[in-house]
Amino acid sequence: MYLLEMNHIEKGFDGLGVLKDISLSVKEGEILSIIGPSGSGKSTLLRCATMLEKIDGGEILYLGERAAYIGENHKPVYKKGEERRKLQSYFGLVFQNFNLFPHYSVMKNIIDAPIHIQKRNREEVYQEARSLLKKMGLEEKENAYPCQLSGGQCQRVAIARALALNPKILFFDEPTSALDPELTGEVLKVIKSLADMDITMVIVTHEMNFARDISDRIIFMDQGVIAVEGTPEEVFSTEHARMKEFLGKFH
Ligand code: ADP
Ligand code: MG
Repeated sequence: MYLLEMNHIEKGFDGLGVLKDISLSVKEGEILSIIGPSGSGKSTLLRCATMLEKIDGGEILYLGERAAYIGENHKPVYKKGEERRKLQSYFGLVFQNFNLFPHYSVMKNIIDAPIHIQKRNREEVYQEARSLLKKMGLEEKENAYPCQLSGGQCQRVAIARALALNPKILFFDEPTSALDPELTGEVLKVIKSLADMDITMVIVTHEMNFARDISDRIIFMDQGVIAVEGTPEEVFSTEHARMKEFLGKFH
């Protein structure tokens, strides 16, 4: 079974199509990277997948269960209340700009949602958070505030925060593009370590070597469509003109 299926997704803003008939699926343990020029719809795709934006067409399924579809009145239908929260617990999202709560300590950023939203046992959540911080190389930082951390450290806290909710699938939207080059490596290393733990991931990235190295499959988006899709070998050796032009910018 697929963890995530997006079928024929359409999304526009102000009458302008941003996602056009996008279909993709993600299996358990799979790592899918999404690359493509700025403005091609990558963030919108992740925002639709994570229900931050409503779709205009198509359907979204998590674990075979329909999370969004277009109803008889042509309006999108989404689950509400408890059912919505259950669906939301299937995924985590790591943003470009970390989106940590500035007035919360590192620890509180991580444990707040598991304790207050998932209503999990406080002691158990603490222990798991400490172990996550250790994995992220941040065991000394649990009482620090985001403003006392480097961008790379903030992003690693954001990853720990997403993992603390035990999602089945983790989405990353350009997780390193707000970082200085010397801090990018430490975040990519952490994401790589998640791959080694078989965590299912969908990663929007401009780090081409990283995408080639880590992905089972890569999608190249261009102007709201999936222009190329395949294994890293297939995608990086494509003769697709726009893709070649795009890759040329990284050399
Ligand atoms: P990418 O992440 O690939 O750079 P985006 O998904 O952010 O691309 O944007 C795709 C297109 O959709 C862009 O033209 C952008 O201006 C437009 N867009 C994205 N979000 C909105 C919004 N909330 N309102 C209007 N237009 C938007
Ligand atoms: Mg984007």
